[in-house]
Amino acid sequence: MGYDVERFVGYVNEGLLCCVCRDVLDDPLQAPCEHAFCSTCIHTWLVNHQNCPEDRLPLSIANLRPLYRYMRNDLARLQVKCTYRSLGCKVICALESIHRHEEQCYFALFGCSNAGCAVKVSQHSLAAHLCVCEYRNSVCARGCGYTLSAADEAQHNCVFELRAELDVLRTELDCKVEEVRHEMESRLDSQRRHMVQKESLLKNEVDELKGQLSRVVSDVCALLGAERTRRQELEKAELEKAELLERLKNEVLKPGMAATKAVTRQDEAHRKQNPNSLTLDYLKKKSSDVTAL
Ligand SMILES: [Zn+2]
Ligand SMILES: [Zn+2]
Ligand SMILES: [Zn+2]
Ligand SMILES: [Zn+2]
Ligand SMILES: [Zn+2]
Repeated sequence: MGYDVERFVGYVNEGLLCCVCRDVLDDPLQAPCEHAFCSTCIHTWLVNHQNCPEDRLPLSIANLRPLYRYMRNDLARLQVKCTYRSLGCKVICALESIHRHEEQCYFALFGCSNAGCAVKVSQHSLAAHLCVCEYRNSVCARGCGYTLSAADEAQHNCVFELRAELDVLRTELDCKVEEVRHEMESRLDSQRRHMVQKESLLKNEVDELKGQLSRVVSDVCALLGAERTRRQELEKAELEKAELLERLKNEVLKPGMAATKAVTRQDEAHRKQNPNSLTLDYLKKKSSDVTAL
């Protein structure tokens, strides 16, 4: 759709009007027959027609061309009033710059920034609207800390709100406590199981060690017994040795034994070299003495 002719200051050449909407051309295209149209107008027309809306000559989208350069220049220089003129904007500028102006126009309408508010408001009147906007938010004046929209303010009850929040928190806390309790119990259970296992392992080890200890004790007893026996035998041997020596001395000092003296002396020399043979020699001599008797 084109621009309303009413918005333009001064005379607008008829060649700059759209043949479909009869307004001033917006984004213009022209047919080979030199009739000009807004881009959207002619595209919409050609959906149901295959001709020029002005003279019915055959026409398709492929035949459309940009407007002559001089006509485009004329169009760009047309003086047009801001679209927000009814709201108070007095700006008039060339058509080529009107879009740039309207985007930043002080009177342009924007949606109110409060969520839920459908009011369209210009920068010019935004501040005034925000003071009375039904959807404005403010912190509760009675000190509960809630942010309230103007619509909620009438029914707001600090005690009720805080109590509800407290209930929610309490429920959350209960859940949390239950959760922690559950976790601790399961952890304790697993530790208990672990301890029981450990205990039985230790018990087995202790039994094993007891067995080993009793074996060692009996080994030591056996060794001690053997040692005692050996020592007793040794003592007995010593006693026998001393006794024999004593007897030998007595024998040697007895008279009438001179004949054997030489032999005895020989024996003694031999004994000095080999003291262990004492008993054997003595026994031999003894037996010969017995034979002599
Ligand atoms: Zn048009
Ligand atoms: Zn035509
Ligand atoms: Zn404006
Ligand atoms: Zn609002
Ligand atoms: Zn409150």
